[in-house]
Amino acid sequence: MIKIVIDKEKCIGCGACWVIAPGIFIEDKSMGKTTLSSQYILGERENKVYGEIPRELYDKVSKAEKNCPTYAISIEEQ
Ligand code: SF4
Repeated sequence: MIKIVIDKEKCIGCGACWVIAPGIFIEDKSMGKTTLSSQYILGERENKVYGEIPRELYDKVSKAEKNCPTYAISIEEQ
């Protein structure tokens, strides 16, 4: 599994990660910012979403991380 953190403070809601990795990153419509699909969320704290993603989705998640213009997505490999 791969640990992932989304910083909602940094997210500007550009939607790039929703297009690159649909079903993993989704819009939190209450804020217009990114969150994780609920099955991947471990917890939320201080505007950060913590999650765990299966290794087979690494390529998509990594592409989303690299294309996020505000560096709001962080991946910690395990
Ligand atoms: S790519 Fe980054 S800034 Fe754009 S919606 Fe996703 S997390 Fe937010």
